[in-house]
Amino acid sequence: MSQHDLTWLVKNSEPRAANMVHQLMEQGISHPELLVLMGSLPRHEFVEPAFSHLAYSATPLPIGRNQTISQPLTVARMTEWLLEYARLGRVLEVGTGSGYQTRILAHFFNKVHTIERQKALYTQAKKRLSAMQVNNVEYMFADGQAGWPHKVEMDAVIITAMASKVPLALTGCLKEQGILIMPIDHPSPQIGCWRKEGDRWKCLGTESAHFVPLLEGLEHA
Ligand code: SAH
Repeated sequence: MSQHDLTWLVKNSEPRAANMVHQLMEQGISHPELLVLMGSLPRHEFVEPAFSHLAYSATPLPIGRNQTISQPLTVARMTEWLLEYARLGRVLEVGTGSGYQTRILAHFFNKVHTIERQKALYTQAKKRLSAMQVNNVEYMFADGQAGWPHKVEMDAVIITAMASKVPLALTGCLKEQGILIMPIDHPSPQIGCWRKEGDRWKCLGTESAHFVPLLEGLEHA
């Protein structure tokens, strides 16, 4: 990151966001635009109000409905993989949750498709991001394991909940050379990044991380 960017950050971020960015840099995150973006986003607005004082800490936090927002390093690593390997056209996210990762994806991709199975979280994230003038996101209240219903091919798919097996509908909608990011439980909980190469998957990176489970069906409440 250039000195200019860093100066900008320190001037414009609230101190705890600037601290978070310094920690991310120490942990190996180096994409300047990503660091500036994460330093300027109000992460405290994406977590449950009772936890907003911890929003910039290196920990996952509750976002309501028994779900959690990933810790900053996990969000940053997943996004950095996408920035390094994916064409930044169309991305599908499964697990909208708070909308924090969606917000970051929307900054870099032309179009974001995001699916959430909990009605309350879907509604809240949609409202939150619209209020932030984020206009290149399509939201869907559905079980994301079925993929995006209209046959659009994705440059990248990112799953933000832990599945026991890879949902075929999701890998099926990826373009050739498309990037898949998803958590896996084996041999230990981690997040991984793969490239679709014909009927093979080339692993481009993994990192230890914890996620809530990918669940079936819908929750309307
Ligand atoms: N990316 C989110 C993290 C959310 S946690 C954020 O930045 O806040 C994972 C989310 O996946 C939860 O909101 C959970 O309800 C959702 N989820 C779990 N299984 C799902 C499924 N089958 N389809 C869609 N969303 C799912």
